[in-house]
Amino acid sequence: MPGSMAHDAGMETIDLHTHTTASDGSLSPGELVAAAKQAGLKAVAVTDHDTIDGLTEAAAAGRDLGMEVIPGVEISVERADSDSGMHMLGLWVEPGHAELGAFLDRLKQGRAERNPKIVAKLNELGIPVTMEMVQEISGGGQVGRPHLAQALVKVGATGSTQEAFNRYLGNGKKAYVPKFRFQPDEAIAMLRKAGALPVLAHPGLLELGKQALERLITGLKGMGLMGVEAYYSEHRPATTKALVSLAARLDLVVSGGSDFHGAAKPAIALGRGKGGLAVPASLLAGLAQARDRLRAAGR
Ligand code: AMP
Ligand code: ZN
Ligand code: FE
Ligand code: FE
Repeated sequence: MPGSMAHDAGMETIDLHTHTTASDGSLSPGELVAAAKQAGLKAVAVTDHDTIDGLTEAAAAGRDLGMEVIPGVEISVERADSDSGMHMLGLWVEPGHAELGAFLDRLKQGRAERNPKIVAKLNELGIPVTMEMVQEISGGGQVGRPHLAQALVKVGATGSTQEAFNRYLGNGKKAYVPKFRFQPDEAIAMLRKAGALPVLAHPGLLELGKQALERLITGLKGMGLMGVEAYYSEHRPATTKALVSLAARLDLVVSGGSDFHGAAKPAIALGRGKGGLAVPASLLAGLAQARDRLRAAGR
């Protein structure tokens, strides 16, 4: 079972990595929080790509439904050893933090510049997608490659969104266009200033060997990283286990989530990933303590 570790049947679980219509998920923030309540989760974090626009609605839904909602974000950052980049989660961001808002605006601007370039490349390849079509699919939030993938399926250029990534949109593929990213130290410093715990997202997707991964994470810790996402839909149990012990050795806290996107990634279920994911609610205590240490230390 991908992503799972041995756990009690009745264990309380959480999901600290989800997307809404504010980025490339298909549920609105309110719907997401309702779905988390329905799924019986103890807490859910909303971590949209490069935006905190969904957090006010999510917090209101959390209050209405009596659901613990952790305001978060997932920031794309550069990666020294590869041009594919990596993702930094921030948990407990202060919604409405002005400097963080301006920081994220720079990323939004990068997306706004990139998307028409991808559409132009697709048009050159004879594929009749338009920005209007992509914007309609996105439902008004941030536009990302998953929306472009849906547009490719819609016009019949590919049979699935995964095929759209494999043939056109994935890193280095025919219609790939790089986007502006901050350096990891810049994103970590910004998150800490906004009161948020910086957590490296899905380290298992970086495709690094044990030693290279440890070097990378040690380097990020030197920049202020405080946690790693050990539990993740696409992590094998052995990966999760190795990350939990690495975190303990490096004095980092452990987080976990599904990367739920709703219908935009139908294979991933909220809280359960591909079926075997179970993120223990007991992780919350360590994460909250780290957040409190960060805030007490003046960030
Ligand atoms: P963007 O933020 O617009 O660059 O889109 C990034 C999102 O695209 C990621 O969160 C993934 O959901 C998706 N994605 C990126 N590469 C792939 C891939 N090779 N296969 C499937 N999905 C991908
Ligand atoms: Zn996404
Ligand atoms: Fe990610
Ligand atoms: Fe994500």
